[in-house]
Amino acid sequence: TDIAALLLSRIRDVPDHPEPGVMFKDITPLLADPVAFTALTEALAGLTVRYGATKIVGLEARGFILGAPAAVRAGVGFVPVRKAGKLPGATLSQAYELEYGSARIEVHAEDLTGADRVMVVDDVLATGGTAEASLRLIRRAGAEVAGVSVLMELGFLGGRARLEPALDGAPLEAL
Ligand code: 5GP
Repeated sequence: TDIAALLLSRIRDVPDHPEPGVMFKDITPLLADPVAFTALTEALAGLTVRYGATKIVGLEARGFILGAPAAVRAGVGFVPVRKAGKLPGATLSQAYELEYGSARIEVHAEDLTGADRVMVVDDVLATGGTAEASLRLIRRAGAEVAGVSVLMELGFLGGRARLEPALDGAPLEAL
């Protein structure tokens, strides 16, 4: 579609970042282009409304940049999921496996309730590990999962298949 072509045209491939052999998808050209950034914000807000979400959960750090304006546009709240140790209040914490080692993400327990339906927003779905852990956090907080919306899915890494059980029928949208 036109919007997908516009968004793709503003994503820069950076070879060997952050380590040799990795082709990093850099979204900073898209953020710097007000037409593309606005189109992305409108699209994410549209998905949030379409799936009946009451909150956007943004995944640190680029999920904050994309999720916050989309939440304002959609008229829903924004909740940050952060790397361990950053949030000052009482948190729920979820560990997940990386290629080498493990990581942990957290959310403020009081920011999500049983009344919430949550749209998870991030820039890139790679292996799906981060998004999968975020879905666990959302359900542990008692909230419902409305879906996962990302700018870009790296299909060759199999994230969609990894995420499928945790989605439990909720949609994964890649713009
Ligand atoms: P995953 O947990 O799916 O393997 O990795 C996804 C997380 O890593 C996302 O939060 C995303 O921001 C980041 N990530 C992984 N690869 C890339 C990439 O090529 N470009 C960008 N912008 N982020 C990436």
